Amino acid sequence: MSTAIVWFRRDLRLEDNPAWAAATEAHDEIVPALVIEPALLDTAGPHRRRAFLTAAEALDRSITELGGRLHVRIGDPVRILPALAEEADAAAVYANADVSRWAQRRDTAVESALGVSIEWHWGTLAHAPGTVLTKAGTVSRVFTPFSKQWFAVPMRPEAVAHDIAVTTDPGDGLPASDGAESAVLAELRVDAWQADVDAYDDTRDLPAVEGTSRLSTALRFGTVSPRSLAEAFGTHSPGRQGFVRQLAWRDWYAHITHQFTDIDRRAIRPEYDGIAWQTGPAADEEFTAWAEGRTGFPIVDAGMRQLAESGWMHNRVRMITASFLVKDLLIDWRRGERHFRHLLSDAEPSQNAGNWQWVAGTGPDAAPYFRIFNPWSQSRKFDASGDYIRRWVPELAGLDATTIHEPAAAAPLDLAAAGVVLGDTYPEPIVDHAFARDRTLAAYKAALGK
Ligand SMILES: Cc1cc2nc3c(=O)[nH]c(=O)nc-3n(C[C@H](O)[C@H](O)[C@H](O)COP(=O)(O)OP(=O)(O)OC[C@H]3O[C@@H](n4cnc5c(N)ncnc54)[C@H](O)[C@@H]3O)c2cc1C
Repeated sequence: MSTAIVWFRRDLRLEDNPAWAAATEAHDEIVPALVIEPALLDTAGPHRRRAFLTAAEALDRSITELGGRLHVRIGDPVRILPALAEEADAAAVYANADVSRWAQRRDTAVESALGVSIEWHWGTLAHAPGTVLTKAGTVSRVFTPFSKQWFAVPMRPEAVAHDIAVTTDPGDGLPASDGAESAVLAELRVDAWQADVDAYDDTRDLPAVEGTSRLSTALRFGTVSPRSLAEAFGTHSPGRQGFVRQLAWRDWYAHITHQFTDIDRRAIRPEYDGIAWQTGPAADEEFTAWAEGRTGFPIVDAGMRQLAESGWMHNRVRMITASFLVKDLLIDWRRGERHFRHLLSDAEPSQNAGNWQWVAGTGPDAAPYFRIFNPWSQSRKFDASGDYIRRWVPELAGLDATTIHEPAAAAPLDLAAAGVVLGDTYPEPIVDHAFARDRTLAAYKAALGK
């Protein structure tokens, strides 16, 4: 009889899980293992931690239905996996690979510590790194050619598992997750999204409505397979095409990170590492005001409060808040990336740093540095009714759709009628946008030697 370990990490599902399917095909018995790395759990903020534990509980339930239990261990996988392999007399380990610097280093270390072979799969992405390449054999640094190729490359077939014995475990068990978290319960979300996806093109940029799939946390922990999503949604309407194209963005940042693992530390275009960012006590205070949603720019404050309270923020508002930090406050994108990474339940280095570099103009195919979002016009365009601001910045709820975006420009009588006292119930803007714009253009130009 041959036993294998399936080492679960960011692929917390049994359906369309290539590592799981391959192990069930080649072996008679599976030891399903999850190693909780304290260092990772500590850096995850409360939202991601809860989402992870909820996803792990759901996986344990699926494994229990097969007659087994998830073998949970807490500690360093470099020590734990070899010990578990020996204990179970396992012939091999199966896992889905990951792209981050941390993950690649850990996986190499585990591989060399193990006395048995480890077989890697790519269940966390729709297409594996190395399969979507330019004619020159590289990952395109421009998204459109990447996405054309991404749609043209055939998807791998669904990974179907065989019925097989799964072992039970007297071990550690999962730490308690402090509350229900539906964000990772993929099935419900996928069904709901099937009903709404056709309108995606019209709704995706409107933070006040539920116009996007909200599947990012499920994708982050692999409770849903991106390949299955692409297959299930198809491209037969503009909404579906737009949605599946976002999965290509996700793969693109992952493929880039697979090669450029310093994506969260260095600008992909190195010339942008010379920018003289604002530092010191004044910048620290501004950073804190941004993080706490007290900038005096309502759309920015709404987004930052949504992030802190819920662990998620609408994509359009992620762009606005990130742009505000980098281009209005001239604060290093890496500080913002770390803050988002701590709080977002869907955060991962490839997607988070990739998008931050896009906003900062330092990454591949990024927004040009001289394109500086105007927070008020973004707000008027994408939250025209002001309902998103009202939801997250309740002290402005009495203002109407004209005045709510820029209270500092509202007539004193309108402010008084809504009970808003600037500098008291709601802050004055912490920066002058026109001044900030010029300052940023000058700093970027200086770094580029222009
Ligand atoms: C500054 C900034 C930081 C971000 N950090 C993260 C992060 O840490 N993790 C993360 O998953 N996404 C990140 N995003 C991308 C995007 O905001 C989220 O994926 C999206 O808001 C999740 O909501 P949704 O599932 O409803 O997305 P939908 O619009 O329904 O899109 C479907 C899926 O496509 C993928 N996707 C969508 N937009 C992007 C994008 N711009 N880049 C890459 N993949 C995308 C996601 O997996 C998403 O779940 C970031 C964007 C910005 C501007």
